[in-house]
Amino acid sequence: MSIRVLHTIAELRAALAGQPVVGFVPTMGNLHQGHLDLVRIARPRSSVVVASIFVNRLQFGPNEDFDRYPRTMEADVAVLSSAGCDLVFAPDERELYPQPQGYKVHPPAELADILEGHFRPGFFVGVATVVHKLFNIVQPHLAVFGQKDYQQLMIIRNMVQQMALPIEIIAGPTTRAEDGLALSSRNGYLSAQERAEAPQLHALLQRMGQRVREEGVQAIPAIEAEAMTALAARGWKPDYLTIRRRTDLQAPTDPQEPLVALAAAKLGTTRLIDNLEI
Ligand code: AMP
Repeated sequence: MSIRVLHTIAELRAALAGQPVVGFVPTMGNLHQGHLDLVRIARPRSSVVVASIFVNRLQFGPNEDFDRYPRTMEADVAVLSSAGCDLVFAPDERELYPQPQGYKVHPPAELADILEGHFRPGFFVGVATVVHKLFNIVQPHLAVFGQKDYQQLMIIRNMVQQMALPIEIIAGPTTRAEDGLALSSRNGYLSAQERAEAPQLHALLQRMGQRVREEGVQAIPAIEAEAMTALAARGWKPDYLTIRRRTDLQAPTDPQEPLVALAAAKLGTTRLIDNLEI
């Protein structure tokens, strides 16, 4: 079946009627291999795979890159087709938000106001609201999200669980360039010089993980502080470089619990995020 691009909720619902297993990959477009890997995870588990492309104004802050976020619909549809996607849902803003979205999903503060949520106030309200709305529209049986956005994945899982949504959430591993840089639509903003520097973020997360394994959890505050200094010395503006528990993203206390190192930092005007389970 050749790929179809649908712009309205009514068309999408008609196209999905009677499908036994709907697999869903929500995106903001400008697709790269990381997005396509999520489609490939959904493909064998689904009778129909839907990807959405919608740059969600609600999750952008007033000084963020909503207007300049890259929109590359034609190329996106071509690569989705070759990855085995059946349907692209690409609503415009009037279709998804015909009135100002007054009803919003507010994730709990202990998850949504830390890390990304601290530096991007309202971000997870925007994400949770659009994902919940897209879930209501697509009514998928399963949905695939990237581990690249670790906190986002955790909040979506939590929302699905607490709201009893009948959707299986599947995590896709982070797809990286050969030099370790996590693929991201925002990498396109980087100059050649910045692109050469960008893999340092992943390299630093690896070193942080290695040090925690060698020195133990009591060394974490020093490891975090030194990582911030090291990145700043290379010309970055780090928001956070931190080691947290995987379960709730709080500071670890028990040396046995599984950990994740998470980072967000600006290189020039481009804000990059990454994480590594350690
Ligand atoms: P975005 O279009 O950036 O909003 O991302 C859409 C989905 O793709 C989210 O579930 C992201 O976590 C996921 N994603 C983005 N970059 C990557 C990557 N490098 N590897 C795996 N998944 C990714």
